[in-house]
Amino acid sequence: MTANPLTILRTYALKEPSALPSSILFRSTEKFYTIFDAYPKSIFHFLVLPRLTRGMWFKEGEVVNLKALLTTDKEKAKELLEGMKAEAVEVKKEIEQEMREKYGFRWDVWMGFHAVPSMVHLHLHVLSADLVSEKMKNKKHYNSFHPSRGFFLHIDDVLSWFEAEPSYFNRVGYSRHPSWLYSMARLDPKPREALLKHDLECFECYASFRNMPLLKEHLQEEWDKLEKKAPKRPPVSKRKAVEEARETLEVLELGDKGKEASSSKRAKTDEIDETA
Ligand SMILES: [Zn+2]
Repeated sequence: MTANPLTILRTYALKEPSALPSSILFRSTEKFYTIFDAYPKSIFHFLVLPRLTRGMWFKEGEVVNLKALLTTDKEKAKELLEGMKAEAVEVKKEIEQEMREKYGFRWDVWMGFHAVPSMVHLHLHVLSADLVSEKMKNKKHYNSFHPSRGFFLHIDDVLSWFEAEPSYFNRVGYSRHPSWLYSMARLDPKPREALLKHDLECFECYASFRNMPLLKEHLQEEWDKLEKKAPKRPPVSKRKAVEEARETLEVLELGDKGKEASSSKRAKTDEIDETA
């Protein structure tokens, strides 16, 4: 059986966790699966999807995408999105831990939907804020994750649509005060897809680039800058080794005498601190 790439997420959502290999499934709860994005567009990139379990709290058609979900019962839709966010926050924590362990520092994580998704079945992207990836190949890829382009809809923005009063729409005009209707219009394919054609601009400093290779080089530099700015903490594995080595050295070199010397030094410093 060859899997259809457009419906593969729904196929996963219908399966039992035991039927999903660990190369695909990252985490599972009663209601959600978090899977590795097969074509990661950042250093870390996961998808949170609602499971389609036998009891079916949602029908397939209701969660085919965000637009379909928002036309179902509003309270039910909100509950599902809040559940997806809670799951994404857990994923974010795991990403941050991995960032510290692997890279020695952590940076932002984005959580959001594509306004016009290419794959069937609702899925929330959880990805590190770098867009540094081999799989980032073209303008469409890039603009679909650009955090302020408008195609990538941050989960908190989507949740805020539920609070928007329809009366705003009539009173002050929809262009500045989003109403439910205006919010929903953000999922209309034509104007959204036009956003993907936007010139290549760095999401961090808004510099423009003529082509993908130049942009990608720059994104790597932006990430390197983050790394340099971050407090110097070598990855955990290295840090442990260094600490152990240092302890061994202290024991070998200083002995008891050395310990006394260093504690008397400390006492002097304390005195100075007190008088200061
Ligand atoms: Zn930049």
